[in-house]
Amino acid sequence: MGPIVPAVTPEEIRSHLTSCYDFKKKMALEEVVADVENMLRTWQVQVTHPRYFGLFNPSVTLASVVAETLVAMYNPQLANWRTSPAGNEIEKHTLNWLIAKFGLPVNASATFTSGGSEANLSAVVVALTHAFPAFGEHGLRHLAALPMIYVTAEAHHSFNKIAHMTGLGRRALRTVATDSSLKLDMADLKRCVAEDRNNGFAPFMVVGAAGTTAAGAIDPLLEIGRFCREENLWFHVDAAWGGAAIISEKLRHHLTGIDTADSITCDAHKWLSVPMGAGMFFCRHPEAVAQAFRAEVSYMPKKTDRSVDDPYTTSAQWSRRFIGLKLFLALAQHGESGYVEMIEHQTQMGQVLRESLKSSGWRIINTTPFPLICFTREGLDTTQFLTALREQQIAWMSEASLNGTPVLRACITSFKTTEADIRWVVGEMNRLIDEGIGQCTSTQELLIPAQARNG
Ligand SMILES: *Cc1c(COP(=O)(O)O)cnc(C)c1O
Repeated sequence: MGPIVPAVTPEEIRSHLTSCYDFKKKMALEEVVADVENMLRTWQVQVTHPRYFGLFNPSVTLASVVAETLVAMYNPQLANWRTSPAGNEIEKHTLNWLIAKFGLPVNASATFTSGGSEANLSAVVVALTHAFPAFGEHGLRHLAALPMIYVTAEAHHSFNKIAHMTGLGRRALRTVATDSSLKLDMADLKRCVAEDRNNGFAPFMVVGAAGTTAAGAIDPLLEIGRFCREENLWFHVDAAWGGAAIISEKLRHHLTGIDTADSITCDAHKWLSVPMGAGMFFCRHPEAVAQAFRAEVSYMPKKTDRSVDDPYTTSAQWSRRFIGLKLFLALAQHGESGYVEMIEHQTQMGQVLRESLKSSGWRIINTTPFPLICFTREGLDTTQFLTALREQQIAWMSEASLNGTPVLRACITSFKTTEADIRWVVGEMNRLIDEGIGQCTSTQELLIPAQARNG
């Protein structure tokens, strides 16, 4: 395996491509594959490295790689059931396993998506269709009041793009306040919804996160669910990363209330350790999904069995890759218990990182039971420090800002990460500190809010 972090310029890559690949002369497949593999090994962040503590990109199991190859070879078209009965039923079987884990009704709708963004987009389109029956035919301009979605500032920014793409407009996102641990503040949610109703807007959807991207915060799902039922609002849980915790008896209580969701986003390509892209969209209301994605065309094979769905009529995609095989194959090989072990191991490694940072003078800024640690220390220039960490190939971490405090963000995304990896990384980080790397001069001293100091 090459370096964790590549040192390459765009010019270097472009000149290699221009000089070796004019597509005029034919090349031997082995030669091209060897060269491409070399580029991938040296010219990218190695997200499957045990010391990649990054943005949810997982190490992948062999089974899921085999699945990707099989899918490419047979190229099944899952748009309709009749064209690929095997693929469609394997996906349904796999998704049913998670439907039961999430506590959704057995007839809930579920589909694999390209990722969490498509799943969140599906949620907004289905929720709009459900709340405003005229939306599908006449569009937003037909509605008497402007629909509003409630999110916190910690929600995934795919919602900003979704608001834009659906024509709702980015201002249709109402930002609800968070408490000191970055969870949605229920009192503020109630206040915002009431205020918007008074001002003639049409609240229709609340997004609760089960593991925010920056800090792993879990919103109060049970309370949001209750409030949404009282107020007749669609409750979407964005559990793109954290949703996988549902399979662990030890962790699932952190997601209490997720079973009250109208829809759920969960990515298999995050904590379920399969290659990108594999998102999942779950919805309690199959009739709303069918309404939102309905399509009738003469050229698609007709359904002959009422017990099956044609995915092109129940999801955003048309031509559809057999996304679900990588999860199915990995799950079949490792078993549910193998998966639980993987998730609990990573959680445990997160705890080791948290403890060893704390015991060597670092300050943990976030609160989450999941293996995601946001941290800093007095007088740290996080950008400078991260640069040194990457240049010296110690580890890959990212930078985030929590309540205005710049922090280092380390997420255990690999099932291969060991306690020895973590102890070595923390040792190296402490060595950098001892060498004075990444220290602010007194004039740029960071102002750490009192709340973060105590965290
Ligand atoms: C990653 C993430 C997304 C987006 O998912 P993609 O698979 O990257 O499209 C949405 N929500 C949350 C909470 C995420 O962490």
